Amino acid sequence: MFYRKERVNVMFGIQHNEASEVNLAPPSAARYQNSLLRAFDHELIARLRLAPVVFKAGHRIEQPGKPVKNLYFLESGMASMTTLFHNGSEVEVGMFGYESVIGVSALMGTIQSLNHVYTQIEGTGYECRYEAALQEFNYFGAFHKLCLRYVQAQLLQSSQSAGCAAMHNYEQRLARWLLISADRAHIETFKMSQEFLSHMLGSTRSTVSVVAGTLKKEKLIDYKRGEISILDRKGLEKRSCECYQVIRDYLANYEKFDTAHTA
Ligand SMILES: [Zn+2]
Repeated sequence: MFYRKERVNVMFGIQHNEASEVNLAPPSAARYQNSLLRAFDHELIARLRLAPVVFKAGHRIEQPGKPVKNLYFLESGMASMTTLFHNGSEVEVGMFGYESVIGVSALMGTIQSLNHVYTQIEGTGYECRYEAALQEFNYFGAFHKLCLRYVQAQLLQSSQSAGCAAMHNYEQRLARWLLISADRAHIETFKMSQEFLSHMLGSTRSTVSVVAGTLKKEKLIDYKRGEISILDRKGLEKRSCECYQVIRDYLANYEKFDTAHTA
């Protein structure tokens, strides 16, 4: 397969490395970081007609009521799904990393997006046109099967997070969120505003400041100038609630499991 000479086209915060004349062949499945792409064979990958993209932090991928034109397979970085309430508050309801395909709900009929989705941690990935993805989905083969399993993984993540918000305290939830974010992006230091952390916790900025200050005092994290570093992963795991392990294990293995049991 031949691609044209790479041309970087910056549009709406995404850099498209467009195809042209030089043999810029897509990587073999083993070289992908994305869980779904790693599981697909070369023919399936070719049918998806993927285009590499670079995501800047803060780039909006989906907005409520706007049609999903592309699906995205993240290779690095992390994106969040949030929901907006009438009083203006915004709360995170989903996270996307290397295990994800963003926009998958469009394949099940929800073509107008229901939520905001935007990049929290900059990264790279692949874009797939909705039409190509739908055609592959309707073959009822490996793509169909894995997309459905991924939707189940998203549901598990959302339901566990809902239960977590009702049962566990701010310190536990912040520890869980930091660990899951770091796992998604494969990094231990990342930029994160207090404003977004308050969206994630469903709290005020002052609460975030107190909670992050507690974890910092315990030398589990460092937090300065909008940058968070995990200093003691084992300690942070102990400080987190059980929800971290449940979500981590499911997201790491959903493509292999036939049931929801992860033990
Ligand atoms: Zn929890």
